[in-house]
Amino acid sequence: MPKRIMTIYGTRPEAIKVAPVIRAIEEHPELESVTVVTGQHREMLDQVNEIFGIVPDHDLDVFAHGQTLNGLMAKVFDRLDPVLVDVAPDAVVVQGDTSTVAAASIAAFYRRIPVVHIEAGLRSGDISSPFPEEANRKITSQIAALHLAPTATSRDNLLRESLPGETIAVTGNTVIDALLHTVEQDIPYADERLLETERAGRPVILVTTHRRENWGGAMEGVGRALRRLAERYPEHLIVLPVHRNPIVREAVLPQVQGLDNVLVTEPLAYGEFTRLMKAATIVLTDSGGVQEEAPSLGKPVLVMRENTERPEAVHAGTVKLIGTGEERIVTEVSRLVDDATAYAEMSNAVNPYGDGRAAARSVAAIASLFGIGERLPDFREA
Ligand code: UDP
Repeated sequence: MPKRIMTIYGTRPEAIKVAPVIRAIEEHPELESVTVVTGQHREMLDQVNEIFGIVPDHDLDVFAHGQTLNGLMAKVFDRLDPVLVDVAPDAVVVQGDTSTVAAASIAAFYRRIPVVHIEAGLRSGDISSPFPEEANRKITSQIAALHLAPTATSRDNLLRESLPGETIAVTGNTVIDALLHTVEQDIPYADERLLETERAGRPVILVTTHRRENWGGAMEGVGRALRRLAERYPEHLIVLPVHRNPIVREAVLPQVQGLDNVLVTEPLAYGEFTRLMKAATIVLTDSGGVQEEAPSLGKPVLVMRENTERPEAVHAGTVKLIGTGEERIVTEVSRLVDDATAYAEMSNAVNPYGDGRAAARSVAAIASLFGIGERLPDFREA
């Protein structure tokens, strides 16, 4: 009997990062894959599932506009439990740091099902930033039977918290597997305006913002900074694929209205987004995943946060933490546009997060939980 591995995911970044692992579970002769989506970012999820050819088996449909974190947690417990009982998986796999990850881990633990945590061990060191993700990660680490740490730094964070070394495998981040797989497919833009930008070869500043701790005043400041940059550099095009959350839209969009070199798009399908990252000259973001992907494409990344649980690319010099202050954003972006030396210093391609084999290492570690095969050697940064 193959071991039944249930992967639970719901947001776009989770889908991107679990997809290579689900594929590898499906291809493993002694494992059976069952997928459960929470239905949080449904449209954004569908297009990722499509790129990787994944069809979800169960949908918990927990999303509702304006619901509280506690409301969401309660729904996940309520709707996941009968699925856990029905499917009776041998292990549950979760990825990252959302509240659904924390809830799903607790739910599986209460049913005495071992939890495997992908992207384990990231820590900012500040329980309220990112909020609530830092706490979600720590909760999940306390419960997981197997920690798939992307880097040696994340493994060391877990060891410092007294988690047993033999329960940790260093795999690299599966986002790099997903990125390489997707970039290889050379998926064209569906958006006419992006096609035109590509033809014109215009320099692009790619911007994404969505983090909860930046909602409100900080995000309005980001919008004002974008306006000033657009006015200062009319030959540049600022592309802003804007998150679906109305709180994000209301904060940023009024600030950039009426500027013809700010291109606001809906969230882009992953294939288009990776194409745009590859084409961009500068990436300005508060995203976790983008912080990991853009360095491996050799793009300077300015991160609009005060701290990060992903210090590896900061140490490598391609990522810089700049906070969310309007003035600082304008200064830092301007420096990269105006100063070729500063730009060159930040635009080395580095891969501190993975080599594209994270899914293979992850699945080998999962199988070895059941005495099937051996783990692969840990990922080491080149
Ligand atoms: N992404 C995408 N389309 C977009 C913006 C981002 O496909 O319009 C991808 C991006 O490449 C990365 C992931 O979504 O893999 C990051 O998601 P997000 O920033 O929403 O979440 P975080 O990584 O901060 O949790």
